[in-house]
Amino acid sequence: MLTLVEKIVLTILVLATSVLFFFPVARRVLLLTSLQSASRSGSLLKRFFYTVSRVFLQLCTLKNERPWTGAAHLLIFYGALAFDTMTVNHVIEGYVEGFYLFGQSWLGQLFSASVDLFSITVLAGVTFFAIRRFVIRPRAYDTGARDSALIYTFIFLAVSTFLLFNLFSVALHPGTRTWAFFSHFLAKSFLPASISAPALESGLKLAYWLHALVVFSFISYVPHSKYFHLFAGPVNLFFRKNRPSGQMLPLNLETAESFGAEKAADFSWKDGLDALACVECGRCQDVCPAFQSGKALSPKKIILNLEKHLLSEDKNIRRERDKLPALVPGVFTEEEIWACTTCGACLHVCPFDIEHPDKLLSLRQNLVLAQGRFPGELRGFFHNLEAYGNPWGLPPGKRTELASELGLKTLAEYPEAEYLLWLGCFGTYDDRGRKIAEAMARLMKAAGLKFAVLGAEEHCCGDSARRLGNEYLFQALASANLKALAGSNLKGLITFCPHGYNVFRNDYPALVEMLNDFSPEEKERIRSLRVISHLELLSDLIERKRLPLRRPEEPGDRGQFTVHDSCYYGRHNGLLAEPRKILAAVLGDRLRELGNSKEHSFCCGAGGGLMWTEEKVGKRVNHLRSEEIIRNGSRLVATSCPFCLTMLQDGLRDKGAHDFRIMDVAEILAGALDDSSRRSGQS
Ligand code: SF4
Ligand code: SF4
Repeated sequence: MLTLVEKIVLTILVLATSVLFFFPVARRVLLLTSLQSASRSGSLLKRFFYTVSRVFLQLCTLKNERPWTGAAHLLIFYGALAFDTMTVNHVIEGYVEGFYLFGQSWLGQLFSASVDLFSITVLAGVTFFAIRRFVIRPRAYDTGARDSALIYTFIFLAVSTFLLFNLFSVALHPGTRTWAFFSHFLAKSFLPASISAPALESGLKLAYWLHALVVFSFISYVPHSKYFHLFAGPVNLFFRKNRPSGQMLPLNLETAESFGAEKAADFSWKDGLDALACVECGRCQDVCPAFQSGKALSPKKIILNLEKHLLSEDKNIRRERDKLPALVPGVFTEEEIWACTTCGACLHVCPFDIEHPDKLLSLRQNLVLAQGRFPGELRGFFHNLEAYGNPWGLPPGKRTELASELGLKTLAEYPEAEYLLWLGCFGTYDDRGRKIAEAMARLMKAAGLKFAVLGAEEHCCGDSARRLGNEYLFQALASANLKALAGSNLKGLITFCPHGYNVFRNDYPALVEMLNDFSPEEKERIRSLRVISHLELLSDLIERKRLPLRRPEEPGDRGQFTVHDSCYYGRHNGLLAEPRKILAAVLGDRLRELGNSKEHSFCCGAGGGLMWTEEKVGKRVNHLRSEEIIRNGSRLVATSCPFCLTMLQDGLRDKGAHDFRIMDVAEILAGALDDSSRRSGQS
């Protein structure tokens, strides 16, 4: 179809486009290889199937709250695959007259029909996105308007010029591409019947070059745009964390060269890949409690600013770390960093599993450990944990006192115990938390479990300290707890706080492997200790009919109840069915779910150690959640975390909702115990 000169021009264009595409891609790959290591090995097959399902079934966009956007993306995604194939055909066709992938076989016909179909679906999808972005303008799309406009224009022009080319092609060769229904329709509709063959040939050639120029320009632009997610996104999905999202890996304080992220070069290649994969959809921002409550933090902007900074400083990252500016306050502000509740909602909704909280935690770690910069109110908190092992600086002996008040033995008094009930700081020192501890003790006794508590040997689990960046303090607290557990023959450790559950289950095992002060036998004993949440324990006891239950009184005016899922039991550790099972056993099927429930639950505002900081900017996160509870109308609210209970109790009180009762699932279940058939004492 092309003359020799035209073929030479086409070759130059193909080569130039390749250089323009691969040079920035190589620059990005080089940048990633200069960043810190991060272990993402293992389970290659699992990673592969996860990525394929996310990408080809488009679960990455269909899985969350925007079904229409997901559907429109599906149309564009498959259209892009078809058009990418068609582009290869287009180039070869320039060299080989009449070349057509799969020829005129039924497969070739099917291909021509599907590309025609996809040209319609892509145009529909792009129109949907353009209307959404430029007419409806949701808050999530508050960045990247120019980039989006360019991408939509490129896609629109690529499809239009393709159809123009196809229209001339089917008119010139009527026996070919017979299933290309849309092109035939366009040819019949727009080309005069009397048009001559030379005119068709000229039109075909003009359309060929137009399409080639649009497509080559688009390809050259891709690495500089968010459309690069087409490549970086699937790679990022492949290298996602294959461990619970709430887990933090230990920092070796003796050997680490730096603590957390001070400069761009301190981030890992996975952090860099996260930044390159972002498509600026704003899903993370939409669900972020900090953003929604008017704080400075937007998880999307954290990722975008990281990307910009990495790309602008790539030379220094590779060669001269000393010349790199500090990340705070140059790239991120302290306000942003301290606003994160580590709820994980951002990570959960992100189509590419971008790990926002890790970056914020890494920045916090550097501020606290290397620079001693943290909100002033944490000074007393850190001191109390260090000196007394609890946030309030109350006497450690109170833990043993509570045990005897509840009629419980300590592990030292009862070494045959099979389970350890972890009372935790709230369960010991907080009046409301003590009621949950009491309920748990009653339930475990009723089930005939052999259990004990640690008493004065129990220290804060260290969750808040760690997520507030104080890894040193976390490791000191965790070591003290691990020492107390290392000599026991316990089968399980039972928590009624999701934060304790998460650190014991996900953080302690990696820490104990790293520490040198435990013998191999002690490590083995700690490894074999099963961490059990009170949700798992209670739902299992109900299933095995180990609890004598009666139906409790009607809760509230309409008898409905609702559940607030904690971030660390629910989203981070997948314990979503258990609270519903427990509540159904005693309250029946009168559950009215909150709008944001289960894995989409909205944080109470206390996670990430923010229980201990002051919320000075914007609305209070617990007020937002309390408003949702009030809208739901159920007068009984079940929680499974002492932090959540405290925050929501305060929130409902502040909102004047005095007729709402808020109780832990353990308290609700204990209230349904039939004391007349009580089992014998067990502790
Ligand atoms: S973890 Fe929660 S609070 Fe932190 S950035 Fe993500 S959504 Fe926002
Ligand atoms: S980080 Fe993920 S959810 Fe947030 S804007 Fe980027 S792609 Fe969307």
